[in-house]
Amino acid sequence: MMQNLLQTPIEYLKGVGPNRAELLKKELNIATYRDLVNFFPNRYIDKTGFYKISQLQRNSSEVQVVGKIVHIKMVEQKRGKRLVADFVDDTGRMELVWFRGHKWIRENLKLNTAYVIFGKTNWFNGMFSMPHPEMELVADYKKNLRTAMQPIYPSTEMLAKKGITNRVIMKLMQELLRQTGLKFIESLNNDLITELKLIPKSEALFNIHFPKSQELLARAQFRLKFEELFFIQLQLLRRNMLHKQKIKGFNFDKIGANFNNFYQEHLPFDLTEAQKRVIKEIRSDMGSGAQMNRLLQGDVGSGKTIVALMSMFIALDNSFQACLMAPTEILSVQHYNGLKELCQGLGVNIRLLTGSTKNAERKDIHEQLENAEIDILIGTHALLEDKVKFKNLGLAIIDEQHRFGVAQRAKLWKKNEMPPHVLVMTATPIPRTLAMSLYGDLDISVIDELPPGRKPVKTVHRFDSNRLKVFRFIREEIQKGRQVYIVYPLIQESEKMDYKDLMDGYESIAREFPDFQISIVHGQMKPADKDYEMDRFVRAETQIMVATTVIEVGVNVPNASVMIIESAERFGLSQLHQLRGRVGRGADQSYCILMTSHKLSSDSKTRLETMTSTNDGFEIAEVDLKLRGPGDLMGTQQSGVLNLKIADIVKDNSILKSARFYASKILKEDPNLSLEKNLMIKNAYSRLVKNKTIWNYIS
Ligand code: ADP
Ligand code: MG
Repeated sequence: MMQNLLQTPIEYLKGVGPNRAELLKKELNIATYRDLVNFFPNRYIDKTGFYKISQLQRNSSEVQVVGKIVHIKMVEQKRGKRLVADFVDDTGRMELVWFRGHKWIRENLKLNTAYVIFGKTNWFNGMFSMPHPEMELVADYKKNLRTAMQPIYPSTEMLAKKGITNRVIMKLMQELLRQTGLKFIESLNNDLITELKLIPKSEALFNIHFPKSQELLARAQFRLKFEELFFIQLQLLRRNMLHKQKIKGFNFDKIGANFNNFYQEHLPFDLTEAQKRVIKEIRSDMGSGAQMNRLLQGDVGSGKTIVALMSMFIALDNSFQACLMAPTEILSVQHYNGLKELCQGLGVNIRLLTGSTKNAERKDIHEQLENAEIDILIGTHALLEDKVKFKNLGLAIIDEQHRFGVAQRAKLWKKNEMPPHVLVMTATPIPRTLAMSLYGDLDISVIDELPPGRKPVKTVHRFDSNRLKVFRFIREEIQKGRQVYIVYPLIQESEKMDYKDLMDGYESIAREFPDFQISIVHGQMKPADKDYEMDRFVRAETQIMVATTVIEVGVNVPNASVMIIESAERFGLSQLHQLRGRVGRGADQSYCILMTSHKLSSDSKTRLETMTSTNDGFEIAEVDLKLRGPGDLMGTQQSGVLNLKIADIVKDNSILKSARFYASKILKEDPNLSLEKNLMIKNAYSRLVKNKTIWNYIS
């Protein structure tokens, strides 16, 4: 009964009708009764108190006053007309002011009749005035249902223009709650309700719209936030579970010659404990019989590559092929060279496929892939092309996940009848809370330890006016045999200007350092030229690399010990951190110098302070999350994931953790939610899945 009622198109609610229904749908995505009841206020105004005019303070925000209009006049000024009413109570006089809608207001306002007015006051010309007050006759005010706090709903310009004011939405909500008789079906079980002292669903929904007290509002918010996060976690965890049951994967139970031989004879260093742990996790995943779907997080320089290689050896040892996909040509080439060197003398056939691979070679690669002569294929997006067919792809590794979408991940799967194991590697640390929500369906491994002997990069902030000192420092470092990066921003919208900045910078550096060799790399160069320049720097033929952010990801030149970031205020935190990760890879003390002008926003200051105070990628990611909010942080393609109705992944961190804890506990005991006591949860869950209320955004 209740279910059907909630499905009712909003058009049929008293006070809506077809026109408003269309607006509500278009502007607020409200199509049914259910949508409306789940449309929550974003703030509340406490209207329990009344002010006397003599009590008004110059800095009081919104106030409510009872009084009468004794006079109305039109005031004409150069800036336009305004309608001014004298409003009095028994303690004083103030003005009500309208800049628009004069005719209607004049015709409808009653003189010498008691009104309740509400709004913000200004102190102007020795008098308080209230522009565009909300007004209600005291007679009506007394008749209407009151709650302690008035909800303020999100609105849009269009809604305001068409007269769907906050008051209208409130009225609709009251009507809806009246019709439903507040009999909303409970969606959580008794255990949870008792354990977390939650208020019942109906009470929560009533109090979120019309809070009876601050306390009930807080409890309503907690209950609804918990519920929202709980069902998302339930979905993610269940998906992960089903995935493991249903999606069979190759069972790589052998550890053979490639892995062992490499480990015993060719490993150039001892693995860190974190690397060992992660390799174990991957090994056990690939030997479980289910498809691996794992996210490997590790800060720049934490040594993900060797983990990737050893995972690929496991595939090879079980007679399967492996591939490694990187987002750029430079990175692919670097991986290719690095891995080839590591595999020397192992008899592993590694090939490289990118956009610039010549046709003849491409054909050769296609052939060798299909007859399994190639063991490991490394490359860019080129690997995703339909023509690229493996004989038996057992493991696909994707480096630097944030450049690839979920859809591309899925494409790799389809290369086989049975999906290969998938390992996604990212150097962008994702705050735990966010990872839980975004990648709750992936298993997560973290390398939280850097290889030994690394000196933390020293980071400083310098103003452009100190450039000469910075140049002197560059010279000293180069004279010690080191190399230097100088990076310029590249932002799509102002590509031309950035290009000019880069070129100007290049010229001034060339003038400053006529005795040094300088490489330059930017996005408008041909790949071959880029590679040539990169290569000169890698081989230490050049001492300075002037570049845009193309070098951001993955590039490895251990001898480079200085990273200068120009216009650092224009970079995001994660980018700054990535760039800094390009140095500090060798044994020498490394430096990162953040250059800015003196004009800095407070966010920029926070970013610079964060960079100079910590090297910990996870800490930086947390600050970034707070500064930018989750949607922005993950990029538009995934921001929808975080389009929550009431909870906030950052602020409600602890609720999220608790939601995940309980969701996991319930699923462990009752994976299919078939126990009697979980019936409410099961019903709510299927309803949500069916209506796609929450999940439509989860990939
Ligand atoms: P990232 O995680 O950023 O991809 P890399 O895999 O490129 O890091 O590793 C960075 C550098 O650290 C490489 O030069 C690599 O050879 C070296 N390295 C990796 N693991 C270790 C280790 N356990 N001990 C010493 N050096 C290591
Ligand atoms: Mg890497």
